[in-house]
Amino acid sequence: MSENARKPPYEAAKIEAERQAAWVERGDYEAPAPPPDGEHGVYVKSSSPFTSGNLHMGHVRDYTLGDAYARFQRARGRSVLMGFGFDAFGLPAELAAIERQVPAAEWVVQSGDRMLEQMKRLGYSFDYDRVFYSSDEGQYRWSQWLFLTLYEMGLIYLDDATVDWCDTCQTTLATIQVEEGGTCWRCHNEVRLIRRPTWFLKITPYLEENDANMAKLEAQPWDELALATQRYILGRAEGVEVDLEGPAGRLTVFTPHADAAGLATFVLLSPRHPEVEAWIGEAGVREELEQLRSGGWERSARDAQSVPVIDTGRAIPGPAGEELPVLISPLVDARFGPTAALGIPAVDEADADIASRFPGRVPDVDGPKTGLSEGFSAHRPVEGARAAKRYRANDFSISRQRSWGTPIPIVHCPDHGPVPVPEADLPVVLPRDLVATGEGNPLAERSDFVDVECPICGTPAKRETDTLDCHFDALFLWVPATVPPEDRAERMFTHPESRRWLPAERLVAGGDSGGFVFDQRIVTKALRDHGEFAYMADGEPFEGCLFHEMVIADGRKMSKHLGNVVDPDELVGQFGADTVRVAVLWAAGPAKTLNWSGAAVRFANKFLRGFWTYAHDRFVELDAARHDPEKAAETEFMRERLRKWCEAGLMRITEDTADLQMHQSIRNLTRLFERIQQFEKQLKKRGQLDRADAEALVAAILLLARVLQPFAPHAAEAILIDSGRFTSADLPGAWPDAAAIPVAVDDALSGAAS
Ligand SMILES: [Zn+2]
Ligand SMILES: [Zn+2]
Repeated sequence: MSENARKPPYEAAKIEAERQAAWVERGDYEAPAPPPDGEHGVYVKSSSPFTSGNLHMGHVRDYTLGDAYARFQRARGRSVLMGFGFDAFGLPAELAAIERQVPAAEWVVQSGDRMLEQMKRLGYSFDYDRVFYSSDEGQYRWSQWLFLTLYEMGLIYLDDATVDWCDTCQTTLATIQVEEGGTCWRCHNEVRLIRRPTWFLKITPYLEENDANMAKLEAQPWDELALATQRYILGRAEGVEVDLEGPAGRLTVFTPHADAAGLATFVLLSPRHPEVEAWIGEAGVREELEQLRSGGWERSARDAQSVPVIDTGRAIPGPAGEELPVLISPLVDARFGPTAALGIPAVDEADADIASRFPGRVPDVDGPKTGLSEGFSAHRPVEGARAAKRYRANDFSISRQRSWGTPIPIVHCPDHGPVPVPEADLPVVLPRDLVATGEGNPLAERSDFVDVECPICGTPAKRETDTLDCHFDALFLWVPATVPPEDRAERMFTHPESRRWLPAERLVAGGDSGGFVFDQRIVTKALRDHGEFAYMADGEPFEGCLFHEMVIADGRKMSKHLGNVVDPDELVGQFGADTVRVAVLWAAGPAKTLNWSGAAVRFANKFLRGFWTYAHDRFVELDAARHDPEKAAETEFMRERLRKWCEAGLMRITEDTADLQMHQSIRNLTRLFERIQQFEKQLKKRGQLDRADAEALVAAILLLARVLQPFAPHAAEAILIDSGRFTSADLPGAWPDAAAIPVAVDDALSGAAS
């Protein structure tokens, strides 16, 4: 081979296309055989994106982190599953379809295909044969099964909820479809809030266990950001509770201020408190409460000062015997869930705000309303108070009046009320040709969908036309990849292979995924109790969890409006996938917001280009190097030093990569590259390199290429092949072992390839 052929230029597009073709041929994209009995595989679960049609930089960050970790674990000899699926139902796809006037089903497939191409171009080693769409019949059949199972367990129920409604468009609206000022996104007429029956998921029975498991998760590879979201969503408040006896019966009240319970001046009830009805005294209060429930409680609750508070006109003897007025406000829900709380203005600012709105009614206390001043003691505990806690997390609505979603498997019979569709009749199929217009409810207008017989009595009945919020589909989006596609129709939740992969070794997701994860943890516990997930005894679906922050540009969120959107395709076209991957990893640790700038790609491209050229030059130089045992003995100590650098670098890179702190890994990679060059410079001061030195140099380069593989897999693999010591079939190969780094002349000369 000529010298020029052995020194190819760094042409990312060509190199990457070649390597990607080789990976397909090698079968790198096929799911691995599950690990043998008694061994647990590494399941890396990345985010399931909406089928928006384009990857954005946040996705690139997510998948590059996950892919680097998956490649690293494979190189360490682990069975790695990197499954992937689309969260394809829901508003984003429906809105895109409305805009284009095509069936949403069509839009979803087009978008998914395009995004998968982008992912392959970025070199992500997903097991593409396991890709799924949550909007596929075979997939949402299981959302319906889950609905029926949770319904049977008493964890799903019907209740009234407040939704935005447009009279002109005759449709309910999602929050983002309501413009600022309360008008409809489509017709710009005023939107009003209505009450309508909605399906709810009951999560309260598992809150305590989600809480108790936090200590366990803290000891597992859960990062601080992920843990913080779980604590925040749970919203645990610790304090005391006391039983008060009043005219309307016993009321258990809570306060987080254990030491000051004796200073309470009022009681605040949640409008969702189970006994709230008993406290409605004066005429008009019921009306007010109805208004609060159907009116702008969600809207006005945005502003703490104007949270609605209703005076029931009733009172209850407090812990110290004094009469405490009973008020009702959703503020309780926002702090402690649907409970009753003591109002203690002396030590609590929110309570002081409320008290100030009811002068004369709420008794004044000695001491300041907010904070503490000299001479005032807030220490007035109550005898008989029990330690107690409350959770802010609460049941939430899972149904939407949208047409692009999983049909709810319920039939409404005039005689039997809501009747579950028998499991044998699943899936309840969503018409694929449905074209949404934004007006009315297209599903309700389809008589072929709506008109059915009651499963119990056979009389004409109506199908439920609400669909499930895509948040509900997401409750089990971490499961399908663990099941071979051909078996999913039969055994989505009971496949023996799932036990080899679950719980997932690592979830990699955006910092805004806390709600998904919290509810996935709840559902895992429900299905453990139901039997399917009995093997996950603690009911936790993720052994480890890495949340990363978002990608912004110019210090601001990327948006079309600001003109600062960075397009991954453009970057890949200009610099290559490896550069984009290294740049996005290097620019910031996962816990930090990544403020994108050209500097990161310039740095990454310079490093890759520099390493590429340097490596190829040294491969050629090695051929010409001569060996002189006497001369080689003189530089033995330098090769030893290089070996130590390599060993230390390898150790750090291994540790950081195992922790998903890839920005550190890349810093240490570039540092090691500098040291290798330094070693050569010092040797060259002594004249021509001995063959032993040239061999040691190439061995260090190969080590560097090996550890570069998870981050820049295309360039790294091409360098290894161009060294002449590996073929494509030998790769991706194993993670290097520090003990195998050559040092002595004999080691070096015996070849570093193995
Ligand atoms: Zn409208
Ligand atoms: Zn019936």
